[in-house]
Amino acid sequence: AVFAVGHRVVHGGEQFQEPARIDEATLTVIEELCPLAPLHNPANLTGIRVMRELLPQVPQVAVFDTAFHQTMPPCAFRYALPAQFYQDYGVRRYGFHGSSHRYVAREAAGYLGSPPEMLNLITLHLGNGASAAAIEGGRSIDTSMGLTPLEGLIMGTRCGDLDPAVPFFLQAKTGRSFAEIESILNRESGLKGICGVNDMREVQQSAQAGDAAAELALEMFCYRIKKYIGAYTAALGRVDGLVFTGGIGENSGEVRARSCRGLAGLGICVDERKNSAVGGGITPIQAEESRVAILVIPTNEEREIALQTVTV
Ligand code: AMP
Repeated sequence: AVFAVGHRVVHGGEQFQEPARIDEATLTVIEELCPLAPLHNPANLTGIRVMRELLPQVPQVAVFDTAFHQTMPPCAFRYALPAQFYQDYGVRRYGFHGSSHRYVAREAAGYLGSPPEMLNLITLHLGNGASAAAIEGGRSIDTSMGLTPLEGLIMGTRCGDLDPAVPFFLQAKTGRSFAEIESILNRESGLKGICGVNDMREVQQSAQAGDAAAELALEMFCYRIKKYIGAYTAALGRVDGLVFTGGIGENSGEVRARSCRGLAGLGICVDERKNSAVGGGITPIQAEESRVAILVIPTNEEREIALQTVTV
């Protein structure tokens, strides 16, 4: 028998700081949030509606990608835009990948043998989508994705941080519509834009074979991560652990090593031997002299959603 159904719902806006039992009121709010996540929330709603038809007696729970980051203070989540846009349309940083950041942060605390409230962590979810989070005592205080998942780190096909004037410049130069430019920033940029492929394995192979564009893509990807590690070290004041997760974070020693290169001044030193021997499970890769624990932790968003569902 099925005890409950947990759904990943991408956007919970400011309305959901925790997972929510699904009822008519919850569905209405998820529906109202569709403009903030037009590619995701409608699909999530379809999944919920189908499961309600198939299993009408079974409780259902929505677990939001944004919820974990609702603890960010205003100085981290507000944009320096006219305040009215926040008040009228909810234009602010929400952040995503919350279930993954929450999961690996708890796993890190368990591994390090400290209560989560005592630990400051930087978590790096590096997959096809990528985001960083600063987690102070178990609470997210900043994250790199914004109103949408386009902001922050360089991703497979998304550009991440960009001068906000670039779309206007491109519109004027190329005559393309803003919808086309938005699509280019989401689907034709990132690793793919720089070197033609969005799969990190291919990028690394080409870079190793001497392809200059692939080498540049790899270097840009890692340099952006390194800048966020620096920024979040400043935001947290003290960092106890740095966590790599996601398809790239878990599997690419090259990306982990490059992202931490030159960070000894921040107490972050990777042990090359440990880093190149990572394989499954939680693996520490910091060198002896590293002040910060550096952990590779396989993420498990499905498990996190199941745990949250059971809790609700
Ligand atoms: P995810 O979205 O978490 O499934 O991650 C997908 C990304 O992980 C893709 O860019 C893959 O190329 C990358 N990835 C998976 N395995 C490896 C690997 N062994 N080395 C480098 N990148 C990898």
